[in-house]
Amino acid sequence: MNSLNEQYEEKVRPCIDLIDSLRSLGVEKDLALPAIAVIGDQSSGKSSVLEALSGVALPRGSGIVTRCPLELKMKRKKEGEDWYGKISYQDREEELDDPTTVEKKIREAQDDMAGVGLGISDELISLEIASPDVPDLTLIDLPGIARVAVKGQPENIGDQIKRLIQKFITKQETISLVVVPCNVDIATTEALKMAQQVDPEGERTLGILTKPDLVDKGTEENVVEIVHNEVIQLKKGYMIVKCRGQKEITEKVSLTEAIEREKAFFQDHAYFHTLYSDGHATVPKLAEKLTLELVHHIEKSLPRLEEQIEEKLKQTQTELDRYGSGPPTDPVERQVFLIDKVTEFCQDVVSVTKGEELKCGEKLNVFSSLRKEFGKWKTLLENSGENCEHIWSTCLESEPVRVFLVFVLLSQKTQ
Ligand code: GDP
Ligand code: MG
Repeated sequence: MNSLNEQYEEKVRPCIDLIDSLRSLGVEKDLALPAIAVIGDQSSGKSSVLEALSGVALPRGSGIVTRCPLELKMKRKKEGEDWYGKISYQDREEELDDPTTVEKKIREAQDDMAGVGLGISDELISLEIASPDVPDLTLIDLPGIARVAVKGQPENIGDQIKRLIQKFITKQETISLVVVPCNVDIATTEALKMAQQVDPEGERTLGILTKPDLVDKGTEENVVEIVHNEVIQLKKGYMIVKCRGQKEITEKVSLTEAIEREKAFFQDHAYFHTLYSDGHATVPKLAEKLTLELVHHIEKSLPRLEEQIEEKLKQTQTELDRYGSGPPTDPVERQVFLIDKVTEFCQDVVSVTKGEELKCGEKLNVFSSLRKEFGKWKTLLENSGENCEHIWSTCLESEPVRVFLVFVLLSQKTQ
């Protein structure tokens, strides 16, 4: 994973930093920023792939484990610098200083947001990791597509998950990573279908084949054809990786050891060694490809992003202009400024009491809004019998009536 050369680092860094600084400015509230989302059926190996890429143990296993979208922001640190982690969700934030606590913290966060059990939630958990061993990438792990609800799950869990996935992959700025195990028929996978629906040309969809060690004997050539993009074509193509299986996890095989084993597996494989030599296999190669794809994608999205920011800026400027200039710095001028403002305000008050239109604000004509309010009041009076106290308080709840009364009083005072 550390094989990327200097020049490449120079190219990658500024892009990722730019996006991160836009994110930290809160731009995401208004604009969608480039990201990579991982989708696939339950237990297809999504979390395993993320784990191998990030070097951080994530909650995984059988059944529905990922129950909230998880945003994994990885930042490469210089060799020798310390690992750093931070988890944030809702309005909570916690710094982590040990990679081994991450899994537990995510589980706790999921329980907090989606409830203990098997429900899912739309809300995002954000996990930031900086270490010399991770690539510069931001990934989103999503709940796996469930075909049938198990006991204790809502009946429509499948639809709920699909809706959630769609929310992420519909965005033009998202690259979809479709995870498919080698031992299932790729043409029937729901995840690939969903990705194709939102991206028919396959311009921002990358296929990842997992579990090559579990491939059905006799179908290896078929897998090679898929990875060579000869079966279901995707512009971004396919990669194949081998992650830790349940047995290796039980045996506590480390992630570094797993990467060694993966390399040996592909090199020695009778069919898949060609995929290794042409650069389509292993997690480190995937990391490299993903980083490049993301940078390419960011570069492509920047003109659109710039356009959107400029438009937003124009709107904000227009709004700002409406408020006029701010107070001057000179104290004497400030006094004049304040007097002007107070005079303007008084003039507005007098205009309102006469029913004249104000220059600002949306409720232009006080008479027409009052007429409506009095109409409501009349109906209320007619319907409510003789309880005057109630009528009076309801009437005072109406903002225009209150404003009107205040202005009448004020105008009497100023005359
Ligand atoms: P997710 O539900 O898609 O996130 O899937 P997980 O990452 O939780 O993986 C499901 C199971 O498949 C786990 O028990 C993993 O250990 C296992 N698994 C993942 N990748 C591989 C692989 O390449 N080979 C083998 N044998 N097992 C794998
Ligand atoms: Mg998972």
